[in-house]
Amino acid sequence: MPTLYPLFSGSKGNAYFLRQSGEGILIDCGRSAKQILASLQEQNIPQNAIKAIFITHEHIDHVQGLKKLSSLAGVKVYASAGTIRALEEKNLIGEKKEIIPIDKKGTELDFMKITPFHISHDCADGLGYKVETSDGRKTAFATDTGVITREISSALKGCDTVVLESNHDVRMLQNGSYPYILKRRILSDSGHLSNDQCTETAVKLLKSGTTRLFLAHLSEANNFPELAEQTAVCRFKQEKMKKNVDYKLCVLGVNGGKRAIY
Ligand SMILES: [Zn+2]
Ligand SMILES: [Zn+2]
Repeated sequence: MPTLYPLFSGSKGNAYFLRQSGEGILIDCGRSAKQILASLQEQNIPQNAIKAIFITHEHIDHVQGLKKLSSLAGVKVYASAGTIRALEEKNLIGEKKEIIPIDKKGTELDFMKITPFHISHDCADGLGYKVETSDGRKTAFATDTGVITREISSALKGCDTVVLESNHDVRMLQNGSYPYILKRRILSDSGHLSNDQCTETAVKLLKSGTTRLFLAHLSEANNFPELAEQTAVCRFKQEKMKKNVDYKLCVLGVNGGKRAIY
């Protein structure tokens, strides 16, 4: 059975480790290699358990540790062709490292099948990922998107576990101290998902079979974990769905959250 370790989440860095019988993959590596390896070690995961890294997009909060981690022996790195070009331009790839372009067909490792989907974000060619482990469980990662497109929605449907962005509270953002241009960027279709947008998507997911939900990529300036959680739980209550009965919910802080055993 797979285990999901949310290591880091938010604008200071994002990284998730999904493990299946001793081996696993990183989705993003947005902290230093040292921090990511230390965080894995705290969970008794040795560095040679990392078999591949899947990059969502080139923003630094998703690739900070890439240069070093990609140089570890036996680690394959995947990203969209557009992200690879952007990473090359920004010199964020290790010198001898080849990144494997991934397209909508996805790829299969010994123990997992990974299928990407497009996100709507102000980057070159961002992706979210759906991972099916050999026991048939499906886990999806959807953060850094301004809207839930039809493509995202169909990728997330039927997943057992979904890591979903709950970036900001719209009122906090609007009344906060960010410059106007940045507020407009975050609120745009290529920005980040609000608590309300996240919750509306989550209602549909819980109704279609998702049982575990991780609220991710919370803004430290424009959100509170309690607020993101309350927004979701209140809305789910209206739909007569009970926490820990119909679903499990975990709000991720900057240092991730509890691991989830399926
Ligand atoms: Zn981003
Ligand atoms: Zn991000």
